[in-house]
Amino acid sequence: MKTIAAVSTPKGVGAVSMIRLSGDEAIETANKIFKPKSGKSLMQVGANEAVYGVFHDEAGEFDDGLVTVFRAPRSYTGEDVAELCCHGGALATGRLLRAAIGAGADYAAAGEYTKRAFINGKLNLSQAEAVGALIEARSDTYLSISVRQLGGELSKKIDSLIGKLSFLAASVYAYIDYPDEDLTDVSVEEMKERLGEILAEIKKLSGSYRFGKAVSEGVKTSIVGRPNTGKSSVFNLLAGCDRAIVTEIAGTTRDVITETVKLGDILLCLADTAGIRDSGDTVEKIGIERSLESIDSAELVILVLDTSRKMSDEDREVINRIVDSGKSGVTVVLLNKSDLGADFYFEVPFDRVIEFSAKEGKGFDELVETVAEMFGEGKLESLGEIITNARQYGAIEKGRRAVESAIKALDSFTQDVAGFDIEEAIAALAETDGKAANEEIVNEIFSHFCVGK
Ligand code: GDP
Repeated sequence: MKTIAAVSTPKGVGAVSMIRLSGDEAIETANKIFKPKSGKSLMQVGANEAVYGVFHDEAGEFDDGLVTVFRAPRSYTGEDVAELCCHGGALATGRLLRAAIGAGADYAAAGEYTKRAFINGKLNLSQAEAVGALIEARSDTYLSISVRQLGGELSKKIDSLIGKLSFLAASVYAYIDYPDEDLTDVSVEEMKERLGEILAEIKKLSGSYRFGKAVSEGVKTSIVGRPNTGKSSVFNLLAGCDRAIVTEIAGTTRDVITETVKLGDILLCLADTAGIRDSGDTVEKIGIERSLESIDSAELVILVLDTSRKMSDEDREVINRIVDSGKSGVTVVLLNKSDLGADFYFEVPFDRVIEFSAKEGKGFDELVETVAEMFGEGKLESLGEIITNARQYGAIEKGRRAVESAIKALDSFTQDVAGFDIEEAIAALAETDGKAANEEIVNEIFSHFCVGK
């Protein structure tokens, strides 16, 4: 493939910058702009060997450094690769990249190295995604999940499920084609039982996304309550900075502010919503409607109540809204302003209630623990492989539905339909690793990578 070049190290000043060339003429191209001190040509340098020398362009020599040579297929991309390390100033780095382009390389597109690694079979799709996740990981937990995925643990799990399903598909077809011959040991009953076991494994995998999403993409969180209960203060406490405006005048948080914060290992995508109450002010009204709507799509609702005032109809209205939205199970109640020592009684139809003070930080640790427990952090060990992105989750859910439908089909004795469903399940699971992914999906995934990766 055409040789590409990009800076693989971060922008800015550092001790060393690395420019990576990959493609059929990577080593030749590097050789045109690099003179090894030994006098040897790069073409004569062995695989995985680094040589010291000077970089030059048409204007002359401009830096010295190291070039490491990798030869196909034993490189990150599976192609010939030359890694050029120069000094880390912006000037030298830019000049070296331009020299590589001048010598015939093309600028690499975002994620193009990893995409080539995928195309050349060095990585499958879930492993390629794990590379992106490793770079972006904001917690040790996400990092260790990504390392396992990069090592192919998720792929092994998927392959084992596909293997079991393929065996059953073959059995189904043997029944259909040769109903009178005893070609397979698997009875319909046994087939149903085995499909049931596979379904349980798929469900476990799909269920892991609740935790996987919480550490990778984040939990959509809505902080709600009537005005002045301390929602902005809770938001700021969580965000650790004064992003939202906190004020004593009721109804100042008019729009929805969002921020992603880390609570333990869990990421919360916080929306600080306007106080929920009847309002004549139109701007504020829009904010309040959004706030109520945010409950519907929230994966975690933090209800803030002000314990220094008696429980009001407005509080009850918000509570009813949470119950009506079916969000009781994902709601945490903060009985805020507990530092004021008032003794009003608050009755709420939710299980998770924390005595809180946004002002003093009281109850914060309990909130962290509660959220961790809600999203399964404590069960990390027993979760096994963990799905961390929506694409993988979608593929696995498609597989789950197909297996469920195969079990139903066997119940009604239409084995050909069951065979079709099993094949569909195999295809869906194969998508996880990109074995059946179409080009659009592949392009979409790699477009999210940074240039140079
Ligand atoms: P919001 O309208 O619900 O966003 O409420 P704010 O966060 O703006 O807080 C309203 C008022 O309550 C402000 O004066 C805050 O300083 C105060 N407040 C918030 N939390 C606490 C708390 O835990 N204790 C005390 N004493 N005051 C608080």
